Amino acid sequence: MATGIFKTPPPKNEAITPFSPNTDARLSLRRELEACTQDVIEIPCYVNGQAIRTGRTVEIRMPSDHQTVLAIAHLATPEITNQAIEGALKAKHDWENLPWQERTAVFLRAAALLAGPWRDRLNATTMLGQAKTCHQAEIDAACELIDFWRFNAHYYEQILSEQPPVSPTGIWNRLDYRPLEGFIFAVTPFNFTSIAINLPCAPAMLGNVAVWKPSITQLYSAWEGMQLLIEAGLPPGVINFLPGQGADVGDIAITHPDLSGLHFTGSTGTFQHLWKKIGDNIGSYRSYPRIVGETGGKDFILAHTSADVNALAPAIVRGAFEYQGQKCSAASRIYVPRSLWSNLKSKVLDIMSELKQGDIRDFSNFTSAVIDERAFIKHSDYLDIAHSSANVIHGGNADRTTGWFIEPTLVQVDDPKHRLMGEEIFGPIATVFVYDDNQWSEVIDSVNTTSPYALTGAIFANERYAVQEASQKLRNAAGNFYVNDKPTGAVVGQQPFGGGRASGTNDKAGAPLNLLRWLSPRTIKENFNPPKHWDYPFLK
Ligand code: NAD
Repeated sequence: MATGIFKTPPPKNEAITPFSPNTDARLSLRRELEACTQDVIEIPCYVNGQAIRTGRTVEIRMPSDHQTVLAIAHLATPEITNQAIEGALKAKHDWENLPWQERTAVFLRAAALLAGPWRDRLNATTMLGQAKTCHQAEIDAACELIDFWRFNAHYYEQILSEQPPVSPTGIWNRLDYRPLEGFIFAVTPFNFTSIAINLPCAPAMLGNVAVWKPSITQLYSAWEGMQLLIEAGLPPGVINFLPGQGADVGDIAITHPDLSGLHFTGSTGTFQHLWKKIGDNIGSYRSYPRIVGETGGKDFILAHTSADVNALAPAIVRGAFEYQGQKCSAASRIYVPRSLWSNLKSKVLDIMSELKQGDIRDFSNFTSAVIDERAFIKHSDYLDIAHSSANVIHGGNADRTTGWFIEPTLVQVDDPKHRLMGEEIFGPIATVFVYDDNQWSEVIDSVNTTSPYALTGAIFANERYAVQEASQKLRNAAGNFYVNDKPTGAVVGQQPFGGGRASGTNDKAGAPLNLLRWLSPRTIKENFNPPKHWDYPFLK
């Protein structure tokens, strides 16, 4: 066995490919998009190293061209779910006893493969299956996932080297960073390929085993990710891939006595449902399951009278409408002082009138379709609310003819407590409230109290007292707080991501804080020369 105090390669954020016209990168991605749409692939369950076709199938279609079928996915049955849990528990012994550097190497290899030959494939499947532009796919499926793997390897090494500071003479105190007993249930959302694949991987790197239930609407890229991990050398059973309806897989996994943790990203409602189930079953687990969940958001941009309107306008457009507003961090409530509004409004509307929307294979489109019919109907209902109770100043239309298209929409409300200012819409609909310049303090209170969420938020101001006041009063209103920048686009290693209140447990994915949740340290005290007598001096 190799012995040494091994060091992981120092991580650096993966550079973003710009896909400029006439570049090799752009041509290569186009070829991959073309190749992907030539075949309808089959997506199996992958359990204990075996691909299983259950025959309970669903079609995976392109959101921006819903007549195009990309894949047929086989959904897990309760029996397969039980097999996946058994497979994970069987794989656990060998996997957790593999030296940490060998486990970590699997994920570093996955990062290298993704940075190289797999990049186009994961980008293309993310674009086609989740309606992301090439840029949105690249920052998610390629860069962020590579960063998750590389930075987590580095953080794991750092954690292992954290040892008790004091070992008095004759004693050696040590911390043994054990993975959790049992299996991790990773339940993942549709909107980020990187998050979906990272959620089972982060605990697995530390020696845990996982059952992974991706979202059905992200299966096309999720299956590519699973195959990439297999090519990187992930042993059978360490991560078991279970396409499935939430409850079919969830009801079995979440109540299983060997559940050691839930690693969740998705909506607040689903997370609360799963947490409640764990609570209801708390007497039946072998150990207390760790619960980590990153959930919804109603993210704000707060402009002060000293804000730079030229920076604010693009921040609103990018923050609210990139990826059709389907980012948990998307700016969806915007507070603007009356003295800036007319200038800002004309700049924002100028930009919005230039935004092209359509099929993601046309690289000139800035936005595309929302994920599926369910989202389309939900957003259409919000557009009805906007038309009937607010002022729609741009957009406001929905079109389902070829894809699930909701037009980027800007709405103005008179009431800062309007439901469009408080509810997560998760679509390309942003709402503006214009406040009187002398109501700055009141508007900060409104930002803090209008929504149950606390994920991301931004203040735009040049005046330092205003920055300080907003930062202080909104300290608990966002887990990721931005000054003069849009509230989206957190980078692994630079801005650890997560929020509080109804937005989640704030365990900061891609940071040591998250990894610590999947470890159960054992303290070892070794006495080199234990006392041979029982009595103390005070007894004399
Ligand atoms: P969702 O809650 O509908 O689904 C998330 C996952 O939960 C899916 O895999 C789904 O199949 C599964 N699920 C649903 N019911 C289940 C059950 N009973 N048992 C087990 N699994 C079940 O969320 P979504 O629509 O995929 O994602 C959008 C949501 O995710 C938004 O609310 C967004 O804000 C949030 N999100 C948050 C973050 C963050 O970091 N805070 C990041 C991305 C997305």
